[in-house]
This record gives sequence, structure tokens and C-alpha cells, in this order.
Amino acid sequence: MWDEVLGHQQNKEFLQKLLLPGSRPHALLFYGMGGIGKKMLALHFARTFLCTGQGARPCGLCESCRLFDIANDSFAHPDFYLLTAEEAGKDIKIEQVKEMAKQAAFAPVLSAHKVCIIDDAGQMTAEAANSLLKLLEEPPPGWLFILITQQAERLLPTVLSRVVRLRFEAPDLNDVQRILQAHGVIDNAKVLAALAGGSPGRALAFKEAGIFDLRHEALALLQKLPLQNPFGHIAGLGWGDKYDRAAALLLTEQFVYLLRDILLLQSGAADKIYNTDILAALERLAQSTPLHTTRQSVNAAQEAWQNINKNVSAKNVLEALVLKLDLLRKE
Ligand SMILES: [Zn+2]
Repeated sequence: MWDEVLGHQQNKEFLQKLLLPGSRPHALLFYGMGGIGKKMLALHFARTFLCTGQGARPCGLCESCRLFDIANDSFAHPDFYLLTAEEAGKDIKIEQVKEMAKQAAFAPVLSAHKVCIIDDAGQMTAEAANSLLKLLEEPPPGWLFILITQQAERLLPTVLSRVVRLRFEAPDLNDVQRILQAHGVIDNAKVLAALAGGSPGRALAFKEAGIFDLRHEALALLQKLPLQNPFGHIAGLGWGDKYDRAAALLLTEQFVYLLRDILLLQSGAADKIYNTDILAALERLAQSTPLHTTRQSVNAAQEAWQNINKNVSAKNVLEALVLKLDLLRKE
């Protein structure tokens, strides 16, 4: 069941039991790293839970199923409520929770139940979370809440105490590779899966963001070190103008992973490297770079990533990183 979502067998079995008549929790929390299928499984579960068909559910034919169109991201179902931040990365505000709470006065329309998914619940302001808490303490009849977050510890303890937690683990890399291939990623699916930390959603986003071009830029720079004319080289790269913050994060991440792989090769752990498709190039760098330089370079790249993440100007950080890597190579 729910084969559209790969893996998470234990959680699927738990959710299947909730489809049977009997007492069930009023609120669930799906937590685990991003892009591994938490929201997708929540949606498929909700569609099944709300289906009014006879026999196997979801029937795909009843009005409930037709109004719950996951493929087209269209949820006109009157007994379904999806609460998310109005903009990615923004907070979920108390007004939004209150808007949802208004519906508590009404009984489910089509189905016997009502499902509310809150994604990402960790983005709720304290006021919004407290407002939700009131709903969780006295859930309207027939309502089921599914909270989704990457970090359970970002939720108020009082909210956590009201939910049944389902932990989601990253799927096996071979499974991720299969998902990527199913999405048309033929080349380097395994490398992509590794770079995305086993998250299929993240891997697909990486591909969309041109991760292999970014990796190529990072590798080309490492191969050019030490630089004859560092400032001239930096100007020639033009990274500051070319890359926005998101791309700069991804670029510095490639430096981290490439340098990490070089360090692994230097430590005799070739079986653990991510960038297996460019092994020969990494081996040449591993042979030509002193071990302590690689170690310090990994730290420099990680620091750069953290700085961009903390909103320091991406242009400045990228330029400083190139200078730092060059200096380390010249030591
Ligand atoms: Zn149905």
C-alpha cells in the first residue's frame, strides 16, 4: 500500500491500522530529514483515510478521492486542510491557525473524518503553536492532525506531549538511486543520492539546481591551486555575480564533499567516497596535496558554508574561500 512512497514500511503499517475502526490518536507527528517522503505519505494516508468507497481504499472513484488529487497538487476536498507557511521559509502565523480552527464548528462534509496536515509545524510562531495546542487538547470530533517537521525538538514540549510520533529514516542509497532513475535521472544517480544524504527530494532539487556544473567548478578550482594571480583568478570566476545565496551554498557544499573525498582517499578509505564517478581526478589531487592541507581546507569550506547559511554576503564568503584554499595550498 502507498507504493508511491518508497520505504518507511513500519510507519506505513502503523498508519494502516489507523484505517480500521476503533480508537485512534487525534494527532500524529511525522519527523525526520527533509525530502524523504513524510509529506507524500501524509497525503496518501489522508486520501485513503477520507475515501468513502466500498472495498479497497483509496478507491480512486468516489467523490472524496476525486477531490483529493495528489498528482496535481489539488486539494479541493472539504474535509482536508493543509496548513503551511504562506511563503517558503516563513513562519506559520497565529491567524492561519485561527482560520483553520474556525472550521472546528463544522462537521466533516463528505467523509466521516477531517484531516489537517501542518507542514512544516516547526515553522509555527509560539503564538501559533499555543493556538494549535488548544485544538490538540480538545480536538474537534472526527479530526486528525498530522504535523510534519524535520526537527521534533523545534516544537513546544506541550505540543509534543499531545502527538504520537513517527520517526522517518532516510531510505537506503540503492532505493534512492531507484527513485531517481524512476524520475529520469540516468547518469550519476548513485553519486547524486550520496551527495543529497540519501534524500530523494533533495537529490532531485540538486539536479534541478545544476549540482554537477557546480561540482565541476569546485573541482576545476582545486585542480588549479596554487594560483599564480589569486585576485585576478577570482575576478575571472565571477562567482559573486553568478551565484545567489542558494547556489553559493550548494557550491561550497561541493567543496566540502570533494575535499572530504580527497581526505578519505588520503586516509585509505576509498570505499567511503561520494564522488565515485570522478575518482581518477580526486586521486590525482589526493597524491599532490599534503594531508594537513586537505584537513584545513575541509574546515575552511565548512566554515564558508556556515557563514553563507548565517547570511554573510555569499560573494564575500566565496572570494574569501578561494583565497583561503589558495593560501593553504601554498603553505
Ligand atoms: Zn475513494
